[in-house]
Amino acid sequence: MSWRSHGTTTNDSLIDALEANKLIKSPASVVGKAMRKVDRKCYVLERDKLESAYRDHPLSIGANATISAPHMHAMCLELSREYLKDSEDGRGNGRVLDVGSGSGYLVACFAEMLLASSSSKEGAGNNVVVGIEHIDSLVERSIKNLTEDGKEEMIKNGSITIVKGDGRLGYEALAPYALIHVGAAAPEVPSALLSQLASPGRLIIPVGGENESQSLMVIDKNEDGEIEYRDEMGVVYVPLTDEKHQLER
Ligand code: SAH
Repeated sequence: MSWRSHGTTTNDSLIDALEANKLIKSPASVVGKAMRKVDRKCYVLERDKLESAYRDHPLSIGANATISAPHMHAMCLELSREYLKDSEDGRGNGRVLDVGSGSGYLVACFAEMLLASSSSKEGAGNNVVVGIEHIDSLVERSIKNLTEDGKEEMIKNGSITIVKGDGRLGYEALAPYALIHVGAAAPEVPSALLSQLASPGRLIIPVGGENESQSLMVIDKNEDGEIEYRDEMGVVYVPLTDEKHQLER
């Protein structure tokens, strides 16, 4: 079912398909609204812009990395929704970390969801989505992609920050994060990510070895700092690894 959520020649047609297949199901379509403001075409390679940008498939973005399939993005955004609200609204603190940000697509979606959930302009001023990526060429291209998609102002005003670094260590400078999303599979949950998670906070991370079965884990930290693990579903992700290993894969 999920593999059939193909769009045609417009981003809206892709989001329509995801909504029709109930992959986007949040009330008032909070996720749908954000995904409509992020044009997938801007985040794929030149060769895929015409034919494949709105198909429900992962696509190569170079450096042995992929932009995830739209249905996976939609599912992760649905799982993130409650933690993207602004501080007055309970579980969000306006801070999100996207580990292995690759194309920059999800960073843009998180930033749009945070903006939509901020009750005031002042609230929006505290929002920040940090994308951390360890491959130089992907860092550069993601900034270009975000700019092409009209997110330059968000980069300028600090609501989007792309940094180069090893995401297994998180990004201490702007911690704690109400939401940490990891876009690559880790053999085990990195302890730095757990400690940089706010209380309350949610960590969404595929766990499992390379070419082994992997689980998308949803890890919640409550107000008292207690941690609860849930296995959401089986998934296939590229590994969360070091630069050398990734480029030699
Ligand atoms: N959500 C992204 C997923 C990209 S694929 C998208 O849809 O575009 C996973 C990404 O994780 C790749 O870009 C890869 O370079 C990155 N990655 C893998 N290991 C990493 C590490 N240790 N630190 C930072 N990024 C890493």
